[in-house]
Amino acid sequence: MRQPARATRHLGLDLGGTNIKWVVVEHEQEGDHDVWRVLERDQLTTPASDGPDAVIPRLIEAGRDAIARCAGVETVGIGVPGLYDPATGATRFLVNLPGAWAGRPVAGPIGEALGHPAFLINDARAFGLAELRLGAARHADSMVGLTLGTGVGGVIAVDGHVHQGHDGTAGEIGHLTIEPDGPWCGCGNRGCLEAFARADQIAAACGAATVEEALARARAGDQQATDGLAAVGRYLGIGIANMVTVISPDQVVIGGGVAAAADLLLEPIRAELRRRVKTTALDRVELVTAELGTWAGAIGAAIHGAEEAARRGAIGPADAATVGASRGA
Ligand SMILES: [Zn+2]
Repeated sequence: MRQPARATRHLGLDLGGTNIKWVVVEHEQEGDHDVWRVLERDQLTTPASDGPDAVIPRLIEAGRDAIARCAGVETVGIGVPGLYDPATGATRFLVNLPGAWAGRPVAGPIGEALGHPAFLINDARAFGLAELRLGAARHADSMVGLTLGTGVGGVIAVDGHVHQGHDGTAGEIGHLTIEPDGPWCGCGNRGCLEAFARADQIAAACGAATVEEALARARAGDQQATDGLAAVGRYLGIGIANMVTVISPDQVVIGGGVAAAADLLLEPIRAELRRRVKTTALDRVELVTAELGTWAGAIGAAIHGAEEAARRGAIGPADAATVGASRGA
């Protein structure tokens, strides 16, 4: 008789410009299936304007709170809104977070303070990992994911794994060039998908001050708002069509803070996919909205910490000091 596998617990921290969300997830192997469930979750405000000297201690505080309320945590994953160095666990550039984050060690100090191995992941990749393991894409082998919000995040998964590239930046769909001479993007390139589809641009395209106003007006039948959303949906459709042509995914998952607009965007996106995808059968590619809501980033960070620790053979509190110490290497 097969011995039932031990359930393990993993902490995920999601660093946002406004809030730090945390979740503790439990992982269990049931036969050939990985089962993940969320045990506990909460959030604290991010002291964003005070920079990393205030934000990193607040992440540690969130972690201690989580571990006090949910015993048995073995690993830590930290979702960050931007770029980082996976080899050192230091951040490179964080969107919406002022201060000296370039080259700042984050995973190391948090792992040492909490006594468990800690690993960084980009927040959009964390969203995708969560949807892949226990959300909308749980039955998919390959997926393309987008998070629509202040920016446009992206993620791709192939053969059941989120593809990270050599530095965790793979899947930046928001920075695909859609118009060669289009508007400047915050990344320094022109005509990126994000330059057309981030929240303030959606509002502007609809003649509204905010996305919420744009959606309300479109739902009330306002022509300018309806046309604006159709134009944004077309740009999103072009970006997604390019990804579908390259990846041929089982699923495309749309999430993020603007996912409330998804029902108004899905039709223009589908129309653009029909117009542009000619190499693969579109009836095999499901276009769906995300299922895990605003907690997906924290859930995905927790899963990443668990999977990365297992991959590096670093599971277990006894290894924490070694792993924490090797973070700067
Ligand atoms: Zn860009």
